[in-house]
Amino acid sequence: MLTGSCLCGGVAYQVDVASGPIVHCHCATCRKAHGSAFSSVMPVPREHFRWVRGEALLSQFESSPGKFRRFCSRCGSQIVAERPSQPNVLLRLGCLDTPIADRPRAHIWRSDAAPWFDPKDQVAEFPEGFPSK
Ligand SMILES: [Zn+2]
Ligand SMILES: [Zn+2]
Repeated sequence: MLTGSCLCGGVAYQVDVASGPIVHCHCATCRKAHGSAFSSVMPVPREHFRWVRGEALLSQFESSPGKFRRFCSRCGSQIVAERPSQPNVLLRLGCLDTPIADRPRAHIWRSDAAPWFDPKDQVAEFPEGFPSK
């Protein structure tokens, strides 16, 4: 079982089964909603997804007709997106608390991408923040 929660911990969910594929979405609405280059997303079957805490804290924004981005109204974490008419809920993987073995399979909506980020660029990695000197 997978569990996820928001930054403040007020909202939490469980999913019975991992699904996929995991993708990094660069569409303009994901960039704006998350304030980042892309959103990492995993679809899971709605019937295996449930809120376990804080559902009353959820707010939502209909970013395109019928698509609802649900986020914690206290801390702002984007937690899931969904089209209620469709069978999958899209987990925003930054809020996932359970380790998973699956790895992202693709970058999507590259046509909408931020001009300052290219997944082909290799940049330095550090275990913590950027070194001060
Ligand atoms: Zn929260
Ligand atoms: Zn997107």
